[in-house]
Amino acid sequence: MANKVRPVLLLPVAWSPYPEFTHGLHDGLPLLPTKWAPPHLLATRRQLNALGKRPGGQDPVALLYGYSETGHCQWFANLYLISRAKPKLPMTPRKWHALNLANLARRECKRCHRARDYVIPPTFGMCFPCVEASENTNLSNENGADPWAA
Ligand SMILES: [Zn+2]
Repeated sequence: MANKVRPVLLLPVAWSPYPEFTHGLHDGLPLLPTKWAPPHLLATRRQLNALGKRPGGQDPVALLYGYSETGHCQWFANLYLISRAKPKLPMTPRKWHALNLANLARRECKRCHRARDYVIPPTFGMCFPCVEASENTNLSNENGADPWAA
């Protein structure tokens, strides 16, 4: 339903004592188009992260929405109250260790089980030498003869 015209409604909202203009409700939350959300009161998870904060268990109070550049795809983002956000938790040695293990898993080839210097592309699921090797086996015929032999 791209570019659907939404009605403008005055609704009671969590960030103001007065009803505010919204684009209606979506999943029970007030819907705000981009640039309608007050930036000093509401923030997305990424914006909170940039402020050094996290939602801290609070539920979203509104939904921000917009359209992709082509207009074919609609996106939504949860908006949280900045006043109820908690400070980000610091990284501990155990958290760094878990992050390193997760990054190592992204670099390990599922076929030859070697850790590469790059992230294995999920579309291939294997490192580039393994991709080349599998492409070369596809070239050979059922007899196992060298396809390039004269
Ligand atoms: Zn490999």
